[in-house]
Amino acid sequence: MRQVAIYGKGGIGKSTTTQNTVAALASAGKKVMVVGCDPKADSTRLLLHGLCQKTVLDTLRDEGDDIELDDILKPGFGETLCVESGGPEPGVGCAGRGIITSINLLESLGAYTPNLDYVFYDVLGDVVCGGFAMPIREGKAEEIYIVASGELMALYAANNIAKGIQKYAENGKVRLGGIICNSRKVDNEYELLKAFAEEIGSQLIHFVPRDNLVQRAEINKKTVIDFDPESNQAQEYKKLANAIDTNTMFVKPKPMTQDRLEELMMQHGFLDAL
Ligand code: ADP
Ligand code: SF4
Ligand code: MG
Repeated sequence: MRQVAIYGKGGIGKSTTTQNTVAALASAGKKVMVVGCDPKADSTRLLLHGLCQKTVLDTLRDEGDDIELDDILKPGFGETLCVESGGPEPGVGCAGRGIITSINLLESLGAYTPNLDYVFYDVLGDVVCGGFAMPIREGKAEEIYIVASGELMALYAANNIAKGIQKYAENGKVRLGGIICNSRKVDNEYELLKAFAEEIGSQLIHFVPRDNLVQRAEINKKTVIDFDPESNQAQEYKKLANAIDTNTMFVKPKPMTQDRLEELMMQHGFLDAL
């Protein structure tokens, strides 16, 4: 079983990319569980064809420890298994701890069955605090992909996440599997992301184009794989899924300084554009 975590700046497309990748893997016959690790609890909406009705933390609060696996683990597209950790009561508690509570509960209820090929964790990534690093810290997810784009803030976040991974890779098994570019149609975006990924010692594992079909599928509460499987965008997600499935490059990342990051952006033509 491969345990994969997807990190990246808020709004960059983690949940969309994760669910489309998972749907593509499921269509290729893989057995996948998705664990949403964002208090927004929208990591499985497209697979479930609607928002998850009850998160793990809600269920724990309402029903105490007497929980059945079926209460929290819901079947989604392509026989995927979907869970949302949910968040703490607003203003109280640590969201990161909530994630670990959920994962531990899933483990004790026997959700991690041997027939699973993958578990994907979709993790909120604006803050790489101790809480949101939990899936890495606790050795749950060993394979990380960072979703980024050519926008400066997305690359700042990606570089910070690489710093977090570097820290836990020193004494643990966690490795960076690659950077996924979710395009924002920035000039020279492919070249910039490729250079960024290579400079931190990793690879640009796939460049996902921006396409309004993603929104059309989203409004229909579906992944693109489910909504329009013959479309070009669906093929892109299938390529990404295949690249992850056959990936052999797992590294301890070497993040760069902020100055070097800005220099890298300038080298890719951002000075000319000003
Ligand atoms: P995150 O989980 O990182 O916060 P989301 O997956 O919720 O981000 O994506 C934010 C928005 O961006 C969504 O409304 C989604 O439809 C849109 N989006 C994501 N990827 C693409 C894409 N490749 N093309 C067009 N829109 C996209
Ligand atoms: Fe929030 Fe992170 Fe602090 Fe937990 S560790 S309370 S998730 S900022
Ligand atoms: Mg999300």
